[in-house]
Amino acid sequence: MGTSEGGLWTSDDQALPFQLDALGVRGRLVRLGPTLDAVIERHGYPLAVARPLAEAMVLCAALATSLKYDGIFTLQITGDGPIRLLVTDLTTDGALRGYAQFDSWKLAVALGAGNSEAPDGYVPKLFGSGRLAFTVDQGQYTERYQGVVPLEGPTLADCAHTYFRQSEQLPTGIKIAARRTVTDGTPHWRAAALMVQQMPEFDAGRLDIDAEQREDDWRKAVILMASATEAEMLDPNLPASHLLYRLFHQEQPRVFETRPFIARCRCSRARIDRVLRSIKREELDDMRDATGRVSVKCEFCSTEYAYDDNDLDRIYASAA
Ligand SMILES: [Zn+2]
Repeated sequence: MGTSEGGLWTSDDQALPFQLDALGVRGRLVRLGPTLDAVIERHGYPLAVARPLAEAMVLCAALATSLKYDGIFTLQITGDGPIRLLVTDLTTDGALRGYAQFDSWKLAVALGAGNSEAPDGYVPKLFGSGRLAFTVDQGQYTERYQGVVPLEGPTLADCAHTYFRQSEQLPTGIKIAARRTVTDGTPHWRAAALMVQQMPEFDAGRLDIDAEQREDDWRKAVILMASATEAEMLDPNLPASHLLYRLFHQEQPRVFETRPFIARCRCSRARIDRVLRSIKREELDDMRDATGRVSVKCEFCSTEYAYDDNDLDRIYASAA
């Protein structure tokens, strides 16, 4: 990627948390670049699938980094449209991955022939009716948290707002953008999410603020957030901190340490071994390829794990 020199892309693949003390609001600006390219190119997704995946991944990163958890945050969309499943997850240490399952025929019917981009407001067209689910998994001895809402509204941000209204106590607003841009003849995906959230008055140190003022301050933060254009959210030459200053300079935004992301899958042979062991050995016969080996492909990263009969003997022997 020729443009990475000179620090042009330095605010990519990270979340920049910030706080607007004067308004009692905190937020984050998340930008993804090379991480998206890695995931989208590996799968060779059509443009119409790549954009929803890019937006879902940046939404996942924005939500996950606003929570305190130690484990895995997962965003999953299921629907009866051309894209039937989209999954993206983020670990506490910043490993981000994602994949989508879609029906090429339905996609062509929905968008017309050719590899066309997902239009604005694509949710009803590409996902149909379905659900958006968030899960926080902190390991086997803790309870999983899950939030589920129906897909409502034309954009993923609209669907996220439904979730915020139904599940969060604190008012939250989010704006999302994702585009494929061609730089030096090479296509690159970029996505950004700008999120603001009202802070509890105690945390914000504003116990003397009355409800009306609090409401006005919140409304102001949302208006300023919404004034961000898609072009500036995705501009590789506009550092994240500069964009925040441009939007919120009167509120003197305070920025905190960035949280980096990297495209990394958590699959491994040991993990697939465990999955196979949980299935009856004779049921694996349906999964054999032309050479007779059982082949398992990771949906997230397309890595293939092949097992011959000796491998299977070993796996099932260790299960006994
Ligand atoms: Zn994998």
